[in-house]
Amino acid sequence: MILGLWIHPWDLLGYGVEKTYDYVESLGINSLSMAVRYIEERQAYPGPAIIYRCRSHRTYMSLRGSIYWHPDPSYYSGLPEKYRPHATTGEDIVKIFRETAENYKVKPVYWLPVLRWDKLAGGYPELAVKDIYGGLAGYKAQFLCPSNPMVRYLVLGIVEELCTRYEAVEIELDYIRYPEPVTISASPLHMLAQMPCHCENCRRKMREKGIDLEQLDNHLKDLIELLIDSEDKAGITCNKENIECWETVASMSYYLLGIKAPSVFKWLRARSEIIAELVAEISDKTRSYGVELSADLTPPSYSWIVGQDYELLSPSLDSVKIMVYTEPFKRSPDKIPLDLALAKKLGGGTELIAGISLWPPSNPQTIKRDIDLARPHVNGFYGYCFGWAPRRNLQTYVSHVIKR
Ligand SMILES: [Zn+2]
Repeated sequence: MILGLWIHPWDLLGYGVEKTYDYVESLGINSLSMAVRYIEERQAYPGPAIIYRCRSHRTYMSLRGSIYWHPDPSYYSGLPEKYRPHATTGEDIVKIFRETAENYKVKPVYWLPVLRWDKLAGGYPELAVKDIYGGLAGYKAQFLCPSNPMVRYLVLGIVEELCTRYEAVEIELDYIRYPEPVTISASPLHMLAQMPCHCENCRRKMREKGIDLEQLDNHLKDLIELLIDSEDKAGITCNKENIECWETVASMSYYLLGIKAPSVFKWLRARSEIIAELVAEISDKTRSYGVELSADLTPPSYSWIVGQDYELLSPSLDSVKIMVYTEPFKRSPDKIPLDLALAKKLGGGTELIAGISLWPPSNPQTIKRDIDLARPHVNGFYGYCFGWAPRRNLQTYVSHVIKR
């Protein structure tokens, strides 16, 4: 059974490379995923924002655009210089991570955030996902568009380099999706109208798929104007604080979008196809080198919102990891069985792994509960993460998965 753990490169170095492998192997961990590049993020947030494993850096902000291997420019020769990846650390941490693994039974996995790339999306908006008004989509400028040929070239170049120069065993794709809708309290109408992507490359791709994005955008814009006009006049907005009002807008949205404009559904399906096509291209490459490919997917109940379709993606993947995080995000554990049962059905025979939150306020009781709820549906577990989890939580995670 897969018993994995995620680790960040600063924690691998901070705790000590051999010491880390010694520790995780002694725990019983058999798969260790280390980020080979990373996103801008306060570490251990939401949560105590304290790193438990490293005395050398109890607090840490991972910075945008960090690259933890030393890229060889020849893999990126078709890209303008400004888009090419450059090492951001003196030490080649990916090389150290991979070479050290030779002395252990733990599988080294290259954890690769793909489309969430704050630095490129913010610095070069021409690469980023767009909303119906042509503005940058997402809460911040974070996500690259999977239809952009430069983005695809960059991603495939990275995969090629990790497979060859860095002798990948497994590559794990993270953020292989569109950003979540920005609004959290608005109606499905607001959400759909702000979901990317409507850039020129996507318009072209949608045309090839028989979808007139221009027409769809105009339809959505008209509906938004109707809503704005009504809200402007009344000064009343419908949100989740007022559940009856929100339900009215939700019902109206399903009617106006699903029944009156069913092309919305074709568009949603086509977004998932675009993501799946990129994953299939990556998979062609990894399979040609005998490298395993996995992906971190959002639970299937809302994966369609971010363009992840389990049926389309599974043929390209050896395994799927689903984050069923609870405590730190105040999410109910009650939906774990439903989401995992659905993922198993849609994913066919693809190996399914449950990602368990190990950091505070998660505690030994919640960790055991989450594992028990997931166990009937999955082939393995992964814990998040080495640096953020109190030692007792790590021990509970491993002992409870092993105990049957
Ligand atoms: Zn696009």
